[in-house]
Amino acid sequence: MIEQDQANSKCGFVTIIGAPNAGKSTLTNLLVGTKVTIVSPKVQTTRSTIRAIMVEDNAQLIFCDTPGIFKAEKTLEKAIVASALEQLSNAGEVLLLIDVTKKNSKANQLIFEILANRSKKILLALNKIDLIAKNDLLPMIAKYEAMGIFSEIFLLSALKDEGVVELKQSLIKRAPVSPFLYPEDQAADIPSKFLAAEITREKLFLELREELPYNLSVETESWQVQPNGSIKIDQVIYVMRHGQKKILIGKKGESLKKIGSASRVELAEIFATKIHLYLHVKVKENWTEDKHMYAHMHLNFPKN
Ligand code: GDP
Ligand code: MG
Repeated sequence: MIEQDQANSKCGFVTIIGAPNAGKSTLTNLLVGTKVTIVSPKVQTTRSTIRAIMVEDNAQLIFCDTPGIFKAEKTLEKAIVASALEQLSNAGEVLLLIDVTKKNSKANQLIFEILANRSKKILLALNKIDLIAKNDLLPMIAKYEAMGIFSEIFLLSALKDEGVVELKQSLIKRAPVSPFLYPEDQAADIPSKFLAAEITREKLFLELREELPYNLSVETESWQVQPNGSIKIDQVIYVMRHGQKKILIGKKGESLKKIGSASRVELAEIFATKIHLYLHVKVKENWTEDKHMYAHMHLNFPKN
């Protein structure tokens, strides 16, 4: 491992926000590249933020992906988005990703409403420029510039890896001088089982939408790498009551199947291999009072 020059190093947080399908995950993977280090910070009970860490020369960038949060009901949407913005407003940059083919979507309108009340400018990346005519770009840029809330505008095609290097350079330039906040060799310590549980929990949250997600917990019970490199994962979803189990499984198991499939796709992307995911639902009354469950969630059990 190359010794890090602490005196000259930079370290910054970048929160990536945007409507579902804007390309946040694609961009994050591209930015972080093969040296991917994925960690989950302490989660709140209501949602999790997945952090991906990029190290380049003397700079470390920590990307906070906020996937799919705009799918919730409107009031909740506002609360979650606002808290996501608030959370990191004093600790880094916010990058808004917009799919240029869906720039007038409801989700984007909502984001603009929220941004209008913020004093600090954010970065804007117009993504999927491979899908529109170059002539349409200039007026679009002019429109966003006129809004006066963006400190810099980038043109991207995350899919075709266009404009990403420029974005990365700018982010490094903006990062404050600071020692690395995560060890450089953290890759060896990826809490894969926990991350995998968080991914499934996120899918449950997105699929179920109502109160239920707050009442459940996901634990990765087993993790087996197969001879062909694929990974077999067993996870248990704990719910508090039988009624909740029924809702979760859904008609003919459709709901659970959908959740499992969405989680499997994302896990395959993150771990870059085929994933066999088996979800088991168990009723465990009062699991929220069970100390051991908190350790699995990487949370401290409340003292009083
Ligand atoms: P997220 O929901 O914001 O994380 O979006 P994803 O990263 O999952 O991307 C959603 C879809 O858009 C995927 O099918 C991507 O392949 C696609 N996508 C992402 N970036 C681009 C891009 O620059 N150009 C095109 N054409 N498709 C893209
Ligand atoms: Mg995503």
